Amino acid sequence: MLALFIERGDFPVSPVIQLLAAGRSFRQGETDHAALRPTTVSIDRGHYVAVTGASGSGKSTLLNLITGVDRASQGSVVIDGTALETLGEGALARFRGATVGIVFQFFELLPTLTALDNVILAMDLVGKIPAKARRRRALDLLAGVGLVDQAHRSPTHLSGGEQQRVAIARALANDPPILVADEPTGNLDRANGERVAAVFDRCVAEGRTVIVATHERGGLERYHRVLRIEDGRLAEGTP
Ligand code: ADP
Ligand code: MG
Repeated sequence: MLALFIERGDFPVSPVIQLLAAGRSFRQGETDHAALRPTTVSIDRGHYVAVTGASGSGKSTLLNLITGVDRASQGSVVIDGTALETLGEGALARFRGATVGIVFQFFELLPTLTALDNVILAMDLVGKIPAKARRRRALDLLAGVGLVDQAHRSPTHLSGGEQQRVAIARALANDPPILVADEPTGNLDRANGERVAAVFDRCVAEGRTVIVATHERGGLERYHRVLRIEDGRLAEGTP
């Protein structure tokens, strides 16, 4: 536990993600079902955090509150100093584009675009990276995940592991300080899962805060911190 509070490397410790009694309920018939019970937790900048728990335990619900994909039913979600509940839809979308990169289990790439254009589109939509720099940056990001040779191919011609690495390049397109991945290796074999995890390792080494949901119980040694969810209730675990 102590290690969590010691400054690591060049990155001073400060919370980049704070949930303050934040919860999410869904209406089920006559009653409210708490997918995430009111939760208070801070995640420090530069930390590498796993969120584990069985299917249906609330991992995606937690991640969706952190990314602003979904809104808390109660409490507050403060990301990089901004309380998301204070933002309207447009401001929330702009905030999300600039601050968080999101990686999904099933990649969610656009099949009609090349790998390169998938990454460029993410920059076009947000407008944070100058237009002139986007193509070069996208090629650099694809090179960084070992896919520069595949840049002009459609995702439909790439393997699952390659598609997920394109999706990570896309998630990094706008240089977000926070990367959130929801079971990113759940659809990959072990070797490809390891290659994807190695890219996340490097994102942490670059100083990003990386949060990965996984229902796997092993392979957690790489994380600084493991948050376990059981039936919508968050508890700390050990890597
Ligand atoms: P996990 O990602 O760990 O598999 P989820 O966060 O997706 O779990 O779901 C947690 C609980 O919330 C489950 O009981 C699920 O059925 C419920 N849930 C999630 N999203 C919705 C939704 N949009 N509407 C209703 N119930 C939902
Ligand atoms: Mg899920």
